[in-house]
Amino acid sequence: EALNKILDLKGSIRVFCRVRPFLSTEKRRIREPISTGSEYIVVSSAGSRKEYSFDKVFSQEASQEAVSAEVEPIIRSALDGHNVCILAYGQTGTGKTFTMEGTNDQPGIVPRALEELFRLVPGDCSASFTFSMSMLEVYMGSLRDLLAPKPSTKAYEAVMKCNLNIQTDPNGSVEIERLMDVCVSDFTQASRWYTKGRRARSISWTNVNEASSRSHCLTRITIGRTGGKAEGKAEVSKLWMVDLGGSERLLKTGATGQTLDEGRAINLSLSALGDVIAALKRKRGHVPYRHVLNWFGFWLNFFLIFFLGGNSKLTQILKDSLGDGAKALMLVHINPCEEDVGETTCSLNFAKRVR
Ligand code: ADP
Ligand code: MG
Repeated sequence: EALNKILDLKGSIRVFCRVRPFLSTEKRRIREPISTGSEYIVVSSAGSRKEYSFDKVFSQEASQEAVSAEVEPIIRSALDGHNVCILAYGQTGTGKTFTMEGTNDQPGIVPRALEELFRLVPGDCSASFTFSMSMLEVYMGSLRDLLAPKPSTKAYEAVMKCNLNIQTDPNGSVEIERLMDVCVSDFTQASRWYTKGRRARSISWTNVNEASSRSHCLTRITIGRTGGKAEGKAEVSKLWMVDLGGSERLLKTGATGQTLDEGRAINLSLSALGDVIAALKRKRGHVPYRHVLNWFGFWLNFFLIFFLGGNSKLTQILKDSLGDGAKALMLVHINPCEEDVGETTCSLNFAKRVR
């Protein structure tokens, strides 16, 4: 009880940072640009030195267990009735998918959370819980159901055809029309659906890596609760786990045409998300869910919203899970490489704004 109070006081948005280890193919230098402490990161490159602080920093050596242990309290709050949002942010190749999905040997946050939920439940005998699961992909402002019986194989057309509508009901809860929401009664069942969703994400694309770097992948666990000490809190809570699209700037990758549009769509939805979280942090009255119209990017954003349409779908979907009483955790991922220092600094600055 007292602990919960302290956690509440500590704020509903926490930001962690994880540095991926060097891959065997990457060149290592004598002087590495990134150094870490348990709550800060220092980027030193070309004579400049910048320090960033976080609620928690995971170094290159940090294990999946260590990350999951820090995430566990927020998973518990979902069982306590809070809407929860766990977001993996960062440039492509920095380990977002590794953190969220992981591998068979080193499962990530999502599979561990599924296990955790079913393991934690029997403790509270006075309440009974039901769980259901959805998975979807947001790509260029369109939504695709990953658990639907027959995922289409034609990427772009499929995305456009199965477009799902987002609705907000009178009590402020966000619903996505016709999105599959499958009941799961144990871990085995849940992980079977999760595997199906992951597969659906990849089969419709010709180039898996490219496509997965451009879309946001969202897993939602809906927790229903009857009885117990749920007083004053929602009887249904949502746990969102999101593998966001790559945050890299476009010019460097030499993107053109559709690729460029995709990149812009991602950048816009990410900056919209950043604005929403930053606004919540400042506890300002107005939270800009739908439009991001700061002076700086006014015309660009106007253009993008007008021509690409609904690019802040992501923030609309997560609206009820980023507001009052909700808890959010953003995991910012960075590269250890000298070549990527520019991109790394961008990600860390984004995180600074959110925090
Ligand atoms: P992203 O999803 O951000 O594009 P990935 O998760 O695909 O990045 O990671 C890129 C590569 O780095 C993958 O081969 C992945 O296995 C590896 N990798 C990322 N993070 C780690 C880590 N913490 N430990 C070991 N390997 C990692
Ligand atoms: Mg990925």
